[in-house]
Amino acid sequence: MEAIILLGGPGAGKGTLAEDLKQQTAYIHVSTGDMLRAALKSGSPVGLEAKACMEAGELVPDSVILRIIEERIAKESAAARFMFDGFPRTIDQALGLDQLLKKYSGVIAHVFNLEVQRKVLLRRLTGRRVCKTCGAVYHMITRPPEKEGVCDSDGGELYQRADDSEATILNRLEVYEKQTAPLISYYQRQGLIRDIAAGGHADATTALVLDVLNA
Ligand code: AMP
Repeated sequence: MEAIILLGGPGAGKGTLAEDLKQQTAYIHVSTGDMLRAALKSGSPVGLEAKACMEAGELVPDSVILRIIEERIAKESAAARFMFDGFPRTIDQALGLDQLLKKYSGVIAHVFNLEVQRKVLLRRLTGRRVCKTCGAVYHMITRPPEKEGVCDSDGGELYQRADDSEATILNRLEVYEKQTAPLISYYQRQGLIRDIAAGGHADATTALVLDVLNA
């Protein structure tokens, strides 16, 4: 097993980058945020456990996250290549991932650190809209759909994520700084961090990441 990790604050563009890489590489996209939203929608026990944390912009307990990650890894063959989007988000999750890598004979190839100024993150998150059907991400100002409120690719209804409200966004940024940003030095010590300037257009970010993957 091989893994790459997309690391960055809320609004850094992890999901959009992952969509692009899915088209252009063989990596399997694993987004804990998407998995939790799906669990919530289906009313499963994991969804119920995660609901309150997600709505408040807090992190879901590490044990829950590590359980769903292991279940996901176990479904694929030993040769699978994973792209983790929004995981790990705490040092304990990173330690848990290290254990899983040992168990499943895996290595981390790169940790892409998406660097975006805080004011850009705020602007992106407040304008973000997502397709209810396919999850495609739009922005009211920088990436509007052709027809307001409707997804260009499948006509699905666009909605604003419950945790993209102004108060929750501020909390998520704080949670990122406190609990997730320490992962940068954790992976720096292992020589795995690839800093990516991600404050511009999504295509530019994807190109920088592909340069590293193809080097
Ligand atoms: P995301 O779509 O990655 O922004 O995740 C949305 C929300 O799901 C986060 O604000 C957290 O509440 C929860 N979540 C997603 N991934 C994780 C994770 N690795 N650890 C803890 N909570 C997570």
